[in-house]
Parts: sequence; structure tokens; C-alpha cells
Amino acid sequence: MKLKTRIHVFTTLLMFIILALVSTGVYFLFAHMTYDRQAEQLLARGEELAVALHKLDPTDDSKSVILAYMPPSGAVWVTGADEKKASVSQLKKFKPETDPDKPYTITKVDGTKALTVSLPYIDRAGGVAAIHVTQLSGDIVHNLSTLRWILIGITAAAMIPVFASSVALGRIVTQPIGRLTRTMRANREGATYEKIDEPDGRDELYEMTLAYNDMMERLGRNYEKQERFVSDASHELKTPITVLESYARLLKRRGFGDEAVANEAVETMLGEAVRMKMLTQQLLDLARSDKPDLYKFEQADVRVLAEEAVRPMRQAYGREFAVEGPEHVLAETDPEKLKQLLFILLDNARKYSDGPVKVTLDDGAGRACISVADYGPGIPEEARPHLFDRFYRVGTDRNRKTGGTGLGLALAKEISIGLGADLTVESVVGMGTVFRVDLPKEREGA
Ligand code: ADP
Repeated sequence: MKLKTRIHVFTTLLMFIILALVSTGVYFLFAHMTYDRQAEQLLARGEELAVALHKLDPTDDSKSVILAYMPPSGAVWVTGADEKKASVSQLKKFKPETDPDKPYTITKVDGTKALTVSLPYIDRAGGVAAIHVTQLSGDIVHNLSTLRWILIGITAAAMIPVFASSVALGRIVTQPIGRLTRTMRANREGATYEKIDEPDGRDELYEMTLAYNDMMERLGRNYEKQERFVSDASHELKTPITVLESYARLLKRRGFGDEAVANEAVETMLGEAVRMKMLTQQLLDLARSDKPDLYKFEQADVRVLAEEAVRPMRQAYGREFAVEGPEHVLAETDPEKLKQLLFILLDNARKYSDGPVKVTLDDGAGRACISVADYGPGIPEEARPHLFDRFYRVGTDRNRKTGGTGLGLALAKEISIGLGADLTVESVVGMGTVFRVDLPKEREGA
């Protein structure tokens, strides 16, 4: 069953059951109260009759007294030794039936309901007797029948707006779902990542649309990333693979007889293999860098992390790497990712300069700043906007010599975004370059 039909059926049925129960309750309550009231009136009449009978002389005719107290369209029976079962009745062929457990009994007289009350009575001779007073309940039955039809009419009339509102409710709920399904289908068929228009109002449907649009955006971004990764990888790997292939062919053709050529070939092949390894690793790092669940935030001392990043550089290259600034700078960050970011900046500073490299820490309000400065050739102004683009290199020949891939700063930028930090560059050609990481001390949005 469709959701819309289910909403119709369920709400209509539920409202019908509620209305039917309320109407039935009202009907029976009213009937009960009306019969109770009639019984009370008959009981009062019976009590007055008992008093009047007591006041009678033994010679008086009790029937005329009983007749005076008989209700209209009714009957009175007095059973007792004295009155000798006196009875006066307007009802033909009617004998009272009484139930001592009930305050009154209802029986049918010629198809019409009649209500009888009984009360004990001590007759003039002191014997135990009873008075039964009966009256036809035709008026009550008529009123109850009218009430019944009114309630049925009200229930039926109320079902019309109930049905209309259930149709409207079904439409309100299912329309956005229908829109969502159509968009999803179109996305599947056209392999696109279309979003749907956000509905008015801040309800659950609005939340669902937001969640869907967010999911589409992520899927679209991931798809783009994947496409870019594949095209970047195939494009960038083509050159080293061609170099490897041509040198391998050269070795095959000329053999290892010419030692100089063989050495050059092996040297070049090794260099290209190392470059390919670095390239694939950096590409993989880039592909993974914006996954928030890969970042493990914790309280860390940025000073300690900077020292740890600098130490292997000093050992490997025997160059001067200085760390300056406060002894402790605490921040909530991912220590491993921050170190990876610093490695990239330090490695660039080392590659593109010959002098000392200086890391300066700054403990600000809510932010910690780490700058990596070198005294190299600097970066021309026109190159700066492209520095963080993938595979961008300033002066291809120069960088080829340094063995770079053009991915380092793109990866550094992605990591800085993952850490919630700002990565900026300042450079003066001929003087040097400073890369600055502006890191929040507390995790934003956590
Ligand atoms: P690469 O692998 O070529 O180093 P990067 O993305 O790390 O790639 O850097 C991009 C380019 O930016 C480099 O090719 C280099 O020309 C320039 N660059 C990066 N850091 C520095 C620096 N400290 N001094 C001068 N130029 C730099």
C-alpha cells in the first residue's frame, strides 16, 4: 500500500473510530440519565401513593386512590393482604416484571418500552406488600431515536473534513518525497548530483532535504576528487613511465657493454622510480586529506611538535634549522597531521634555499602561529596565487632539479583545512619566503 493511501486510511479510520466511540458514549449516557430521571419520578409517585393508602379508612375504596396516583399511559399494582392485589392499568395484557437487584426494569408492551419501579409497602393490616408503578417510555424512545440520528449525521458530516484533511496531509508528506525520488532517479540516470529546492518552513521535510542536498554535495565532491585523482595520476605518471621504458629499451638494445650508458640508465631509472613512489604517496595523501574522520584531535604542545619535525631534517641534511618562540604553546590539534604539514614546509625551505631555516612560534589569543622562514630566492608575485594548486611549480626546470612533484603545497593546504588552520605565504624575491600556519587552539565546531 502506498504511503499516501496508508495515511488516508489510517487517519480517516482513526477519526471515525474516535467519533463513533464519542457518539456512542454520548447516546448511552443520555439514555441512562433519562431513564434514571423517569424512574425517580415514578418512585416519588409510588411513595406518595403509599402515604395516601395508609391514610384511607378500611371502608374506603383503595382503587380510586390508586387511580389518582397512576401515571399517564401507565399502570399501578398494589400487592398486599389488605388491598387484595388492587391494580389499575391503562395498559392491556400487561403484567409487571420486577427484578429486586435493579432499581427499575424495562419491558416491552405492544412493542413500546415500559419502565417499572417497585417499592416495599406495609399495608394497613401490617402485612408486607409492594407497590409497582409502570409508565410507557414512548417519549424517551422517540427522543433517543432523534438523538441517534443526530449523532450519526454529525459523525458522517465530520468525516468529510477529516477525509479532506487526510488527503491534504498525505499530499504534504508525500509531495517532497516524490520530488526527492524524481531527483534521485534523474541523478541515477544522468549520473549527476542535482540538489532539490529547499521547502519553506523548518520542519522534518526541510531537514531531510538539507541532509539529501548535503549528501549530494559530498558525493559530487568525492566523485570530482576521484576523477581528478585518476586524471592527475595518469597524467603525471606518464612522463616517468615513458622515461623508464625508453631507458629499459636502451639497455636491452645496447646491453650492459657500455658501462657509462648503463650507469646513466640505471641512475635515471632509479631517480624516476623514487619520484613515482613519492608522487603516488602524495596523490594518495591528497585523496585522503579531507576525510574528517582521519583527523585525531588532542591537546598537544606545538613547540614539541615543531622540534620533532625539525630534528630529522637537521640529521638528514646537516643544515641549520632553528626553532624560536615560547617554550610551550598548547593547542587542540592532530599532532601527526600538523607534523606532516611542517615537514612539507621545512622540506621546501630546505630545497629552495641554501641558508638557515627558521621556525618561529607565536602564542596568540585563541590561535597559535607557526612560521617557517628561509632566505632563498623567494617566490615571484605572479606565482603566489597558484602555489597551492596541484602540480604547480615555479620555473619547471629549476624544480625538476630539486626532484619536486608540485603536490607538496596542495597537500599542505588540504591538511591545514582539515586542521581548521590558515596557511598563508609571504615572500620577497631575492630575500626569502615565509609560510605561516595560523592554528586554532581549540577545535572549531567540536
Ligand atoms: P614541489 O614538489 O615542486 O616542491 P610544492 O607544491 O611543494 O611542489 O611547491 C610548489 C612550488 O612552489 C615549488 O615548485 C617551488 O617552485 C615553490 N616553492 C615552494 N616553497 C618554496 C620556498 N620555500 N621558496 C621558494 N619557492 C618555493
